[in-house]
Amino acid sequence: MHSVPFFDYQALFRQHGNAMMAIIADCAERGALIMQQELLDFETKLAKFIGVDHAIGVGNCTDGLYLALSQSGIGAGDEVIFPAHTFVATAGAIKQANAIPVPVECGTDHLIDPNAIEQAITRNTRALLPVQLNGRVAQMDHILAIAKQHDLLVIEDAAQALGATFQGKKAGSFGLASAFSFYPAKLVGGLGDGGAVVTNDAVLANKIRAARDHGRDPEQGTIQFWGMNSRLDTIQAAVLSYLLDHFDEVIIKRRHLANLYNEQLHDLDDLTLPPAPSDQGANWDVFQNYEIETSHRDQLKAYLNQQGIGTALPWGGQAVHQWANLGFSCALPVTERILSRSLMLPLNMAIKDADVRSVCQTIRGFYEQV
Ligand SMILES: *Cc1c(COP(=O)(O)O)cnc(C)c1O
Repeated sequence: MHSVPFFDYQALFRQHGNAMMAIIADCAERGALIMQQELLDFETKLAKFIGVDHAIGVGNCTDGLYLALSQSGIGAGDEVIFPAHTFVATAGAIKQANAIPVPVECGTDHLIDPNAIEQAITRNTRALLPVQLNGRVAQMDHILAIAKQHDLLVIEDAAQALGATFQGKKAGSFGLASAFSFYPAKLVGGLGDGGAVVTNDAVLANKIRAARDHGRDPEQGTIQFWGMNSRLDTIQAAVLSYLLDHFDEVIIKRRHLANLYNEQLHDLDDLTLPPAPSDQGANWDVFQNYEIETSHRDQLKAYLNQQGIGTALPWGGQAVHQWANLGFSCALPVTERILSRSLMLPLNMAIKDADVRSVCQTIRGFYEQV
């Protein structure tokens, strides 16, 4: 039996462990810990990579979304439309900003459905918060047109899409502002929590830069307004800077693994696979996750588990509006059906071609016996 864990943090650390330990020691020995040059360097590098003017390192993506919303003037009574197929953090950030999270359906691509957005718009709608899920960008041409027509702000949750493009533009460069996550399991994963907000708006960038540091003006040190503490650690920024330098290899490998899965599973009728990586078409995906659909989801998951293959249910198996204690009272049948059928297969930098082959063989074995 060839066991394949869903995720293996230790194996990932070993790939860059020595380099990261040297970076940590270098910062620590110089006492470069909070708001030092490495943070500024990382912010510059990240902004350049995404193709935007400003990046601000923050404690995590959830804080980043909150800061982007609240510093854009979103607050009490404002409705913000987001896809229910997302991590609770997306809605949590809206809630934290005192605004009203309005969940809507996704399409067959698992990304926010522009038609569902249009149906959910009311007099109180102020912003759209598309989620660039699984390393794929939503239909931003359509979404930006809706936003323009109804005079709405667009904030992207790009936690899962660093490097993904749509019509040649990178995730995070479409909206007024966007937030990224450097949580350890994300495309660029640090040694703990981390995040960033990016924007082309210089005024908004300055506000967020102050807001993440107690409302303090970065030059004068004077307090401008009520803020919070959500600074990206200098050590974390230095490690992330190093990882961003090696990110091209990550994207190549993830697209390669996704292609292997596609080659070996596409003929199984019960499975719905993500679109294979392609250089044609509007989307160029980076495969943060490999999320398949199957009508035998729970049996397949149990079978793979028995054979030593780790899988995961997106968001623990439920869309945001389905968590009873959060106070939503809507039915989103398309999203609910997708989440009852979805399963994530192992796809990360510790996975080898032989692992993918073994996972696929085991899945084929499952379908021979059902
Ligand atoms: C991971 C994730 C977040 C939260 O990121 P943190 O850095 O952990 O706060 C938000 N939205 C989506 C879609 C995510 O995948």
